[in-house]
Amino acid sequence: MFLSEDGFLVGPASATGGLILGGTCALRGAISPNTGARLTQFAHVHVGAGAGAFFVPGWELPDIRFLYSWKCNIHEGSFSYRYLGNSIEVVEYIKGTGDHEGFPYENYPDSFQEVRRELQRISEGDQQLIRQLNSPDCDPDLEYDNPRANELSTPTHQFGGVPYLVDPELSEKECILCDKEMLLVAAIGNDSYSNEYGFSGDDFVQILYWACPKCHVVSALNFYD
Ligand SMILES: [Zn+2]
Repeated sequence: MFLSEDGFLVGPASATGGLILGGTCALRGAISPNTGARLTQFAHVHVGAGAGAFFVPGWELPDIRFLYSWKCNIHEGSFSYRYLGNSIEVVEYIKGTGDHEGFPYENYPDSFQEVRRELQRISEGDQQLIRQLNSPDCDPDLEYDNPRANELSTPTHQFGGVPYLVDPELSEKECILCDKEMLLVAAIGNDSYSNEYGFSGDDFVQILYWACPKCHVVSALNFYD
């Protein structure tokens, strides 16, 4: 279930912008139960109700942090965490440390430099193109004939709206706690805006994030084009 009709892309740098890329989540419990290492924060978004704000109906907290781990088995399946006051509790994950030496790339950072940007409302034209690209009836030539469609068919960060989906058939997720269908709130692509290799080291990797406002649960799953 999509969050809204329109959403936001990464806008220009801004000292007061509602979007932080990278940074560190210092909240208690924001660690991998497999390794004890702090979870990687890809983004931290202010949630609000004003004009131009990222609004998530029923979400009573001031923000959502988009957390993940490539350095243990968390990335091998569904990963969910919930907000408990000022802490995080991991409620769904694949157990095991695995062998992730050099994965997803050599010297993967413990955290990414914090970069603050504005949330920029996606244009109607872009959102229309993304819907076309996600459609099973999409003309396969669209992304070759239309340069903007080509750009939009590489996973990028989008908050709200209908993001480009690497696998449009797998855009739904049920909450691990209440079984209700969750809201697809964000897609995260590779660009860290602070280092050369990015969040996953691969421009065709996408991580989707869903939220259950009732349970304050956030879920993540990665896809590869
Ligand atoms: Zn729930």
